[in-house]
Parts: sequence; structure tokens; C-alpha cells
Amino acid sequence: MTLEHDLRAAFGSAVEEGVPAHYLSDISRLPGRAEAVVLPESAEQVAEVLAWCYERDVSIVPRGGGTGLAGGAVPAGGIVLAMDRLTRIRSFEPELWRIQVEAGVTTWTLQRVARESGLMFAPDPGALEQSQIGGNIATNAGGPHAFKYGVVGDWVTGLEAAVPPGELIRVGGAIRKDVAGYDLKRLLVGSEGTLGIITAAWLKLLPAPDVVLPMAIFHRGLREGCDALLRVLGSGILATALELLDEETLVTGAPTFPGGVPDGARLLLMAEADGSQAEAERVQTELLEAAGDGALGVYAPRDRAGTEALWRWRGGLGFAIIARRGGAVAEDIVVPVDRVYEAMEGTAEIGRRHDLVALCFGHAGDGNIHSTFLVSPDADDELRRAEAAVDDLFGLAVRLGGSISGEHGLGVLKAGQLARQWGARPLALHSEIKRIFDPKNLLNPGKKLASPLAPGERIPVATRS
Ligand SMILES: Cc1cc2nc3c(=O)[nH]c(=O)nc-3n(C[C@H](O)[C@H](O)[C@H](O)COP(=O)(O)OP(=O)(O)OC[C@H]3O[C@@H](n4cnc5c(N)ncnc54)[C@H](O)[C@@H]3O)c2cc1C
Repeated sequence: MTLEHDLRAAFGSAVEEGVPAHYLSDISRLPGRAEAVVLPESAEQVAEVLAWCYERDVSIVPRGGGTGLAGGAVPAGGIVLAMDRLTRIRSFEPELWRIQVEAGVTTWTLQRVARESGLMFAPDPGALEQSQIGGNIATNAGGPHAFKYGVVGDWVTGLEAAVPPGELIRVGGAIRKDVAGYDLKRLLVGSEGTLGIITAAWLKLLPAPDVVLPMAIFHRGLREGCDALLRVLGSGILATALELLDEETLVTGAPTFPGGVPDGARLLLMAEADGSQAEAERVQTELLEAAGDGALGVYAPRDRAGTEALWRWRGGLGFAIIARRGGAVAEDIVVPVDRVYEAMEGTAEIGRRHDLVALCFGHAGDGNIHSTFLVSPDADDELRRAEAAVDDLFGLAVRLGGSISGEHGLGVLKAGQLARQWGARPLALHSEIKRIFDPKNLLNPGKKLASPLAPGERIPVATRS
């Protein structure tokens, strides 16, 4: 008898027939394997499946939209527990700026529902049509607008989750403050499916701004762009987003840029103002004064279509970058914002050292840089050099007082790397927390590990292609 057969006897049509290939990997394209795929129909059933597996020592990989960039949803045996059927909006009270949704609701659906009532769910991780709110919470996702509005975890007021050995718990709720106990909710946020399976969340919403005014400010070099970024911060201007795109990124994106790219531009600073018409215009003027000093040109659409086109272009850059050599090894380091120049310059230097085209773009206002090395997925030597480049990159991030991951998490791809930035005691506490939640180590085993790699152990870099 197979595991799938036994699961079907217990959970009927919640168990897929066979293992659809779709559930064996995620956007990282790392190969995975699983014995069965379960799509529970309710939160209670999630807890029942967890209990069933826990009793039988079967490992479980929770899965959202599969857009995670650290290989967190890639199974290495056991079952995949996909949240695709938990798509109910349990309650929505626009007049109280709050909503309770099941984990399988896509980020896009959540944003649309909020917008239709004049509200917004502010976080905007890039793959929002496919990613799910459960996955967003499990990775504590960010996005460009995290600069003003914070990351997903900042909007979670309560969580419902199934935790080992198979119990449904609720922490927080429709309350905007709660300091009664240890912050278990925050422990589940960003836990990448290793502590519990998030089944539903209570979220805060905000009234949507009347007007959004993005702008693209072109500078002649990295130094000028980073100086402009620091001038914006120093002037006390609250932009909604502050993004930097370096020369190689600009070369990649220039042909499809919705406006004109001035000659000699080697750095793009994207910023955005929002609020009432008057407020957004005031912030935009201030941003242009502070960031536009010495700029080669500015593109600032004023209508909705232009705004959407500019952000669509920004969102599509990742794919244009991959298209250049067929693949890319992209990381998401974060550094103190005053070290962004060193992080971006350092990435280029690492690329030169390993004979790889390197580029940087990302949420520079948060110090969060997507350092990327272009590779041809079939060229083994390039992949090996990219692996060495990533190793140097993580060293650079830590030397600059930063972290190896600002957005995507450890997943499996950064296994062993936490030891670069944490001492023995925090690492031990990290492992202990895992043991307390999941004593049998059955929830997404091998992910978000605190332990350093064993001598000779290597985790392959994932190539997006
Ligand atoms: C084009 C593109 C742009 C992106 N832009 C951004 C960005 O701007 N900012 C950003 O932060 N990320 C970004 N990402 C990464 C990704 O979209 C986010 O990490 C997202 O939050 C993952 O959600 P998901 O539902 O796809 O999760 P999955 O990929 O399915 O899973 C991710 C992790 O969460 C766990 N998990 C999923 N659902 C649950 C659950 N219900 N309970 C417990 N654990 C669960 C999984 O086990 C896994 O460890 C981008 C990805 C792509 C492809």
C-alpha cells in the first residue's frame, strides 16, 4: 500500500491522484520529490492531515503559490500540503479597515478586494497574481512599497495555524495591539513552513491614497544615485518606494522603458509619492528637488496608465534579466542603507573577479539589494563560478553589517549560511525554537536551518531560467 492510498482512505478527494509535477518544485526549479499531494478543504482538515502525518512520521511541506525564491516549498520526500483550496474571505469589515482571509487567497485577490472598498493591503511582493497570503506571511515578504508601509508581517494582527502534533491554534485576532504573551504570531511570520501551517490570517488594511505619483530619476553613475538616495532620507521625505537600478540593469531594461532613457544614464532611482492630490504633489516636488539634483533626466507619469506601465516595467525586469543569458543566480542581501553603495559596487567587483556579468537592483531605501549574476544554465563552469560569487556576496553582506536575506528567506538555498551572521547562542535558540514547535522535525525538514553545513557539504545555487 502506498502513502497516497492510505491518505486517500483517510481524506478522500483532498488527496491528489498521483503527484502532479507542478507541486514538486517552485520558481527556483530545484528538483523535488514527494509521495503524495494533499489539498485540504478546511483549516480543520489541515490540522487532521498534520496529526495523521505526525503519528506516522511522515514529513510535510506546506505550499502556497510556489513563487518563493529560496526553494522553501520544494519537497524532499513525504507529502506536499498545498493551500490552494483555502480561498475563503472569512470576514471583511471595510469600515474597520480589517479582513480575515484563509491562507490560500492570492495576494492579488486580497489587494483587489481591499481596493474595491477604497482600502489597500500595502505590501506588494512581485509575484502577487500567484503568491498566496499564507506564503507571503510564511516568508514575511516585502516589495517596493515596504519602504513606507513595511513588510507583510507588519500587517498581520492574528494568525490561525496548524501546529504539531496536529492542533489548530489562534494567536492574536482582530486586535491592533497585543503584548499579553510572547509574540508567537511573529515567530510564525517568516518561519517558512517549519513551525506551523498557516491556515488563516487577520490583516490590517489602510485607506488607499487618492493619488500615486511615481518617478524615474536618471543619474550618471552609481555614486551619484546612492548620494541622491541618502539626500532623500536626510531631507526627511517619506517616499512610498525608493528603488535603485544599476547600469547593467538599465542596459537590460532600456529597450522597453515606457519613457525615454537619457544618454549617459548609468543609474536609475525610482521613487514614488502618494496621498491626497496636494500631498502627493508636495512630496513629489520635494523628492525631485532632493533626488533630482544633478540628474540627467526625469520621467514622471501623472496618469494611472502611465503609473501602471512604469511599475509593470519594473516588475518585468527580473524576466528580462534572465533572458540575457538564459539564467540568473539572484540573491536578496540587505545592508544598512548607508552601505548600499558598497554593496552594489562590491557585487560588481565580485562579478569581475569570477568573470560573470553582475547586476544589482532592488529596494535600496530598505538597503535590500537583488545582487544577480548572469549564467547560462548549461554551462557548468559558470554555475560553479556563480556559486563562488554567491559565497563572496554573503561574506560582503555580513561584513557590511547586513544580512544574507532581506526578503526571500533561507529556504534550502541558504542552508548553513545563518552561521555567518549569528553567534553560537542565537543559533542554538533558533534550533531550540524549532524543536519546541516540531519535536519530530517533520515540518518542512531541511529548510531554514540554523546549523552550519557539515565539512564538504554543498548546497547548489538555483538558477532562475
Ligand atoms: C517575479 C517574482 C517577484 C517577486 N518579488 C518579490 C518581492 O518583491 N518581495 C518578496 O519578498 N518576495 C518576492 N518574490 C518571492 C515570492 O513571491 C515571495 O516569497 C512570496 O511570499 C512566496 O509566496 P508563495 O505563496 O508563492 O509561497 P511558496 O513559494 O509556496 O512558499 C514559500 C515558503 O513558505 C512556506 N509556506 C507557503 N504557504 C504556507 C502556509 N500557508 N503556511 C506555512 N508555510 C507556508 C513554504 O513551505 C515555503 O517555505 C518574488 C517572486 C517572483 C517569482
